[in-house]
Amino acid sequence: MLSLDIPQRTSQSQLTQINRILIIEDEDLIRDMIVLALEEEGYEVITAKDGRTGLNLLQGNDCPLSDSPFDLILLDLMLPEVNGLDICRFLRYKGNIVPILILSAKASETDRVLGLEVGADDYLTKPFSMRELVARCRALLRRQRAYSIPQNAVKQFGDITLFPEECRVIVRDEEINLSPKEFRLLELFMGYPKRVWSREQLIENIWGPDFLGDTKTVDVHIRWLREKLEQDPSNPEYLITVRGFGYRFG
Ligand code: CA
Repeated sequence: MLSLDIPQRTSQSQLTQINRILIIEDEDLIRDMIVLALEEEGYEVITAKDGRTGLNLLQGNDCPLSDSPFDLILLDLMLPEVNGLDICRFLRYKGNIVPILILSAKASETDRVLGLEVGADDYLTKPFSMRELVARCRALLRRQRAYSIPQNAVKQFGDITLFPEECRVIVRDEEINLSPKEFRLLELFMGYPKRVWSREQLIENIWGPDFLGDTKTVDVHIRWLREKLEQDPSNPEYLITVRGFGYRFG
């Protein structure tokens, strides 16, 4: 299992989205049990017995430390060579955002807090059940997938196309002019079709929590947006009023 020569992701693993997990753990028994449990779940597992080897794997194949060849790292704290907290700190310092789950016999609150403060995403105290470990791994990988959906992708719904990076909106083949607030409001709506937003949620997202005006501001902006987007603003098909709740898009 231990290998300094990590293969590049194969095209097959890219296609099927096989998650690759690195375990840095010096206790053979625990490491072997984790490998078994995670491989059974279909994950690709790579291991390191000490901190130095772990760091080398993270920088393998000319991969800069800011970009991880792994989707998740399980990290013991008490490790030979380089300890887990230093690895975690170092990765975050380099801008690497790979999810890190700390596995440690240190159960005190201070250790947990310290682990999370240096940038770990979750903390599991030994001894733990393999079922719990697998569940936490799944949750961290799921969260990471959600983050990796590009936020600047072109959004399209019905006759409306929004280009986030160009701040442009095309409606029925014609470019329309939106104020910055109108644009951000539409971008938010289009990112979550059918989701119902309260006026307070829209204020918080677009105007920010310090906004002192009242929620009528939202209604005014919705009316302006309707006039620009809808074929019949009094009978909207995009910006729908949900009585008693707020608004939804589509
Ligand atoms: Ca250890």
